[in-house]
Amino acid sequence: MTSARPTPSPTANPRRTLDKRARIALPLCGVLLLGLAVHRLIIADPSPRPYFEFTGMTMGTTYSVKVATEDLSESGKAALARTIDTQLQQVDALMSTYREDSELSRFNRHTSRDPFEFSKETMEVFRVALEVSEMTDGAFDITVGPLVAAWGFGATDRPTRPPSEKTLRELKQRVGFALLVYDPARATVAKVDPRIECDLSAIAKGYGVDQVARAIADLGHSNYLVEIGGELRAQGQKLDGLPWRVGIEKPDSAARESHEIVLLRNVSLATSGDYRDYYEASGQRISHTIDPRVGRPIAHRLASVSVLHPEAIWADALATALNVMGPVDGPAWAEAHGIPALFIVRDDPASHQDAGGFHSLASSAFEALRASE
Ligand code: FAD
Repeated sequence: MTSARPTPSPTANPRRTLDKRARIALPLCGVLLLGLAVHRLIIADPSPRPYFEFTGMTMGTTYSVKVATEDLSESGKAALARTIDTQLQQVDALMSTYREDSELSRFNRHTSRDPFEFSKETMEVFRVALEVSEMTDGAFDITVGPLVAAWGFGATDRPTRPPSEKTLRELKQRVGFALLVYDPARATVAKVDPRIECDLSAIAKGYGVDQVARAIADLGHSNYLVEIGGELRAQGQKLDGLPWRVGIEKPDSAARESHEIVLLRNVSLATSGDYRDYYEASGQRISHTIDPRVGRPIAHRLASVSVLHPEAIWADALATALNVMGPVDGPAWAEAHGIPALFIVRDDPASHQDAGGFHSLASSAFEALRASE
């Protein structure tokens, strides 16, 4: 972990790198259960060797790749390990704001209106990011970087106090996806305001999941589960022929429990929430998710939102966008756009704390996928 935080509350977990993965708990596997709310994470697996697993750290968090296959030679294992590592390192080297030498950090230091040439990988992430920004009227916005830093969630320079109104007004002038000029033909992005800084933290992990999944498929595998810091792709099925089982975590900063188990086949799942990465100031929870339209961290009763999509890059970005929209506009937007999404909302309208209960709201598309398994 390279960043520090404003004084964390006793409930906020200071070990940020481990927090993110905890958002999704991956039960080992088990029997077919439909949309069942359970409160345990590990479910005994009857088969002796359900998959080969590769784990490690990347992008300030953990990753896990499970490949379901009867057997795997030593060279096959080595090829998988190498492939996974290569893909993860590439995303980190290109898109991290935590590395000064990354392509994105160079773009952020490029204080000029001249077009900046990007790799095709980063161009792809910008393309999807800008589409999601358009669709969500700026609820999702990668130019949010300066606001993220001002509220204490950037890669460096932890501020000692929340930003003043004056600072927020100034920062907001250089936040807005419309201030980016995306040119796919030249593979460049230009800044209308040279002070713009982009943050791909809400989308690049999803892209990394997709890249690892593609590379594993290229090695000839069709059944695997790729997870980076809670964003995942479940491809094919387990060796017993059943779908992958994934626990959507109860959004309680003090607990590690599943709120619901979902069964996944050929789909990606991403979650965005305010219950791990936050601090408290003057009794208020300050979330790392910023509403770029107002320049402030979200402050509503929506504790987490999980989105299903064929591609993890989309699931990742949409989950953040819906989290920004909140417990009323988020479900309405997901419904209107046919997005399978599960919203977990705190019961107590007066509280941003986790002590009370939760209730969930599933979009029709999420309900339909639940029923189809
Ligand atoms: P998500 O909801 O997916 O994303 C929230 C994050 O997106 C916020 O923290 C903020 O950065 C940004 N954001 C906030 N509001 C918005 C908005 N409205 N629209 C768009 N974006 C928004 N962390 C470390 O501690 N050390 C590292 O070395 C490190 N390296 C990283 C390298 C890469 C390539 C990436 C992508 C991330 C890295 N991180 C690192 C960051 C870390 O893993 C992030 O905390 C994580 O990506 C955020 O994901 P999430 O699932 O917690 O939340």
